[in-house]
Amino acid sequence: MSANELLSPIRELGYYPFSAYLRARYGCKVHKVSIHAGFTCPNRDGRVGVGGCTYCINESFSPQAGKPPRSVREQMADGIDYMRRRYHARKFFAYFQAFSNTYADVKTLRALYDEALEFPDVVGISIGTRPDCVPDEVLDLVQEYTARAEVWLEYGIQSAHDKTLRLINRGHDFATFKDAVARTLPRGIRVCAHVILGLPGESHADIMATAEAIQPLGIHGIKLHHLYIARNTAMEKDYLAGQIKLFTAEEYVPVACDFLERIPADVAVQRLVGDTTSAGVLLAPSWPQTKTEVFRMISEEFRRRGASQGSRVGAQVRQQGQ
Ligand code: SF4
Repeated sequence: MSANELLSPIRELGYYPFSAYLRARYGCKVHKVSIHAGFTCPNRDGRVGVGGCTYCINESFSPQAGKPPRSVREQMADGIDYMRRRYHARKFFAYFQAFSNTYADVKTLRALYDEALEFPDVVGISIGTRPDCVPDEVLDLVQEYTARAEVWLEYGIQSAHDKTLRLINRGHDFATFKDAVARTLPRGIRVCAHVILGLPGESHADIMATAEAIQPLGIHGIKLHHLYIARNTAMEKDYLAGQIKLFTAEEYVPVACDFLERIPADVAVQRLVGDTTSAGVLLAPSWPQTKTEVFRMISEEFRRRGASQGSRVGAQVRQQGQ
């Protein structure tokens, strides 16, 4: 990927969207097929913890979570068929989304990942998981797929502050994330980090410190979420007790821009705001703006500042497509 291809969306939007990265690399829009492969999570089943992260009911992250899973092959076939008919889609990523998608033995994982990649137009695989759930033998397996597809691991980290990670019951610390990234990148696997902006107890300076802690690690993608409260979560109680303040969209936009200014310009932004996909899950906040309007507000804010993603880092263009 040339520097021009990288910089043109940044000039236009102020940030580098994952869709632009994929289009430049594959010459067309690439669609993600979300998969629920029947995993659970070590922070819910007792291996690391019980109850999970205080903001988590997994139904809020995936349209299919909570439903009995069909085979990966069926989900891929249906997803590809739907996207072909609806969007004339030509290329696809398999996205293992629900729960911790490396939480099984290597033989089980291999069978599931193989099913997703047996479709000829699937050019990549994205695997969402926890940074404490990637032993070397699992990374070795995931690395094997880099020979035939583009491979991403998506690590939930949410904050670089161990105090916050304890408060939200993540069950791991920031050092665990750094260790996972350091073992993942040399294998040719791309890394996307998930971060929540607005976690309880975090100041603006704390949020920026998270960006600065992530910035030098060499990751390839980032997903930003504003904190929202889902029903039937531990965090709901604290919110209803008045202990958590949530961003309005107008408050979130400058914070997201401040954060992205500290993230290198070649890190593809895979998400800019949180998203609840299941009806009835979201308790708060209820923003009047649509997601598209928030994207526009972020671009306008960058334009108003004369700044962009990476402008506090010094944009060093890494050759992501190579
Ligand atoms: S790691 Fe993910 S699936 Fe597990 S409890 Fe936390 S948010 Fe939920």
